[in-house]
Amino acid sequence: MIKKNDHYLVLNSYSIILPKLLEEMNALDINTKFTIANPKNSSLDSDEIQNKYHKLKVNVLVFNESRFSKNSLQKLNSNNYGGVIILVHPRDVSKHFHLLKNARKIFDLPILTYNNIDGLQKLTFKTFLKLLPRYLFETSFLNNLAAFRKIYYFGFKYHCPICNSKLRKFEPFGSRKPPRPHAQCPVCKSVERQRLTWMYLKNHTDLFSEKNSLLHFAPRSSIYEKLKAKKSIKYYPVDITDRNANIQLDIQRLPFNDNSFDYIWCSHVLEHVKNDQQALGELNRVLKVDGKAIILIPLQAEKTEEFTHLSSRKARLEKTGHPEHLRNYGPDFKKRLMDAGFNVKILEANELFQEHLLKKTNCNKKENIFLCSK
Ligand SMILES: [Zn+2]
Repeated sequence: MIKKNDHYLVLNSYSIILPKLLEEMNALDINTKFTIANPKNSSLDSDEIQNKYHKLKVNVLVFNESRFSKNSLQKLNSNNYGGVIILVHPRDVSKHFHLLKNARKIFDLPILTYNNIDGLQKLTFKTFLKLLPRYLFETSFLNNLAAFRKIYYFGFKYHCPICNSKLRKFEPFGSRKPPRPHAQCPVCKSVERQRLTWMYLKNHTDLFSEKNSLLHFAPRSSIYEKLKAKKSIKYYPVDITDRNANIQLDIQRLPFNDNSFDYIWCSHVLEHVKNDQQALGELNRVLKVDGKAIILIPLQAEKTEEFTHLSSRKARLEKTGHPEHLRNYGPDFKKRLMDAGFNVKILEANELFQEHLLKKTNCNKKENIFLCSK
């Protein structure tokens, strides 16, 4: 169904898998043209899209399933599109399934789906059958119970140190194609770096054994629940939005006194922050003199490259691999920490733990933890 010189209208382009799709299209050498309907992720509704873009003679409609209701699909269908490509998160099978059902009813058109595990595939009866068991499991009420997931995924190959589950597998996760295998715990949804940091805090610090205060940036829900339940920890979960956080704040201007916290946990946050040097200064200021800041960043360049000047999500995605990352860090990140006044020790996973344990918990043996003190 994809023909040479087709013109694609990409709606709700907020999706980190979109560039993978574009890459794949380009590899097909079909000379496709893309119009991004809402590059800044503003929420155009279907009427606006209809008015603004119906003159484009778009052949194929591409959209991200999470943003469209049945009604908006119905409205859009009055345009004469050549086909539909639906971007779906591979882990979201139930949404995927519902949408495919609706889209098939509404669009009398060929439908392709795309995700970063299965790639581009035509939606046929066979795809439905393939999805059905996953759909039935994911929509069952049992799947909502962590206890059931613990049994369903039970096995001896892997172990999650956070939710203490014995597992036959971890789930693939990540925006790249293919996603990282065995990355996410199916029970508590933790990923490699969180399991590593957890094991480090548990085995190499007194965070859990003594009374401590902890400032935790952008916590994942499973970890947030665990730490909140610990009576000995005075816990401050914070975020710039209210996702899993009790306190909303900007890391560049912390509303805390100097020398307030025994521990700071700041993992994969600084690459989202405009002035990371100022943020690091703030972390240094609020850390107690004998406190520890545990900082992790994605290390992905020879030398740190700044992209704070890029305002479009698409451009940042191209440069950094993520629409919200403002720089690619290199090993010179250590200097930024020292400039903020920290003493820095770089801990590599394979120096902290034995290989068999890193394999069992599937942590990256090359992952660096930047342990900072005043
Ligand atoms: Zn887990």
